[in-house]
Amino acid sequence: MSRRHVVVLGAGPAGLAAAVAALEAGARVTVLDEGERLGGQYWRHHEAITDRRLQHGWERFERSRDRIAAGIAEGRAVLLQRAAVWRVDVEPLRLHALVGKPDAPGRRRVVVRGDALVLATGAHDRALPIPGWTLPGVTTAGAAQALAKRDGVTVGTRTLVAGAGPFLLPVAQSLAIAGARVVEVLEASRLPRHAAGWTARPWELAAAAGKGLELAEYARSLLGQRTPYRTGSGVVRILGERRVEAAVVARLDRAWRPIPGTEREVACDSVALGHGFTPRLDAAIQAGCALTEAPPGSPRFVVADPDQRTSVDGVWAAGEITGIGGADAALAEGDLAGRSAAGTPHAALAAARRRRDRTDAFARRLEAHAIQDGWSSWLEDDTLVCRCESVEAAAIVRASGSASRALRLATRAGLGACQGRTCGSSVEALCGERLGLDARPLLAPMRIGELLGGSEATA
Ligand SMILES: Cc1cc2nc3c(=O)[nH]c(=O)nc-3n(C[C@H](O)[C@H](O)[C@H](O)COP(=O)(O)OP(=O)(O)OC[C@H]3O[C@@H](n4cnc5c(N)ncnc54)[C@H](O)[C@@H]3O)c2cc1C
Repeated sequence: MSRRHVVVLGAGPAGLAAAVAALEAGARVTVLDEGERLGGQYWRHHEAITDRRLQHGWERFERSRDRIAAGIAEGRAVLLQRAAVWRVDVEPLRLHALVGKPDAPGRRRVVVRGDALVLATGAHDRALPIPGWTLPGVTTAGAAQALAKRDGVTVGTRTLVAGAGPFLLPVAQSLAIAGARVVEVLEASRLPRHAAGWTARPWELAAAAGKGLELAEYARSLLGQRTPYRTGSGVVRILGERRVEAAVVARLDRAWRPIPGTEREVACDSVALGHGFTPRLDAAIQAGCALTEAPPGSPRFVVADPDQRTSVDGVWAAGEITGIGGADAALAEGDLAGRSAAGTPHAALAAARRRRDRTDAFARRLEAHAIQDGWSSWLEDDTLVCRCESVEAAAIVRASGSASRALRLATRAGLGACQGRTCGSSVEALCGERLGLDARPLLAPMRIGELLGGSEATA
């Protein structure tokens, strides 16, 4: 039996699966997550909201939570919630965290040491900039969904959901359950691409039958509300004086350029935008993990070997940071990473590898929804791209070609409060180069007093 200490960063599906698997393999486990509740993005919840239509695979969540609670009772597991990890050292392995309410005074500084680290830091949802997207009433699709799932509230009463990818469907369903009328769901990917992606080699999707049922349930929910679902369409401008009053919607060509003459106005008081996901790579970058190559503006991922090991000794990765593949893929990768990090030899992991490989088919389908370059044609010169520092599209295009440090200093794009988390990929796509906006010296916001002072307790 392994007596390794496995540290897991992230308590979404991947991190929870890794923690459970490492416990089953006999390891000691410490899990850290900045959230108030376990579950990450997929199982975002509140105890007071019990409508299980908002949660898929909830039994798996409960099993994981209970297994970790049993590990705590046995003295083999430690769970640190509201623990924002601000630094990762790998030689020796140490995670530095601030534990307490986000940005509140009096947070505790904690350092966690271990023998192996599983990174499962997930992803942010991505919204492309659109003229008018800074009006009150516009949110990312993920924020709209989080409000519905965790707080039971909606941003408006007539919501337009737009972007790309199957994630728009659970968002629309969550909003409908929370009481909003979803006026339309707009998918930018055009029908032929969409259909080619989803109908090719259907037998491969048999392993993702759960996902198929989930998608069918969302489709039923849209039909029930008589909400139109349109492919090859997007929001190209959002209108309103003080808040959202309407949106201009257009048909999009294959490159996502608006097709002239197809614009129409849709009355709504809120818009939820989701154009896919950006992996949260900052911890992996700080740990020195190798990343995949990709053009500026397209996501890179942590390179992982068949057992989810990264290029750095003693560090594993699982979930959205190794490729966007949905919750089933995150669970299967987490399970494999946790077993491997606990010291289970490669030969004994064949079944876990097969379970992980079966989730690839669904992940590959998501490529049908990849962002296409023509989106920048719906920008206007004064469209804000970096919202924190109020940097307009024209300023970024003008400064492109300068060295990345000069561009950042000249425009301040990506240097504001979100540190490029919202705008980084769009800024890099517009100026056509990587600016290193996903590397951060501090992984979480902290006060200068917290940085300078305070001895660290060992967890
Ligand atoms: C906003 C949003 C909503 C989504 N909703 C759905 C949905 O409804 N249906 C669906 O099928 N898929 C959804 N997805 C996709 C879904 O996230 C994944 O399929 C699945 O949750 C991925 O699991 P994960 O464990 O890799 O990451 P996540 O679930 O994102 O978990 C990562 C965890 O890491 C923690 N973390 C990251 N960095 C730090 C740090 N420095 N310190 C401490 N903690 C840290 C985060 O708090 C988070 O809990 C959503 C994704 C996003 C971004």
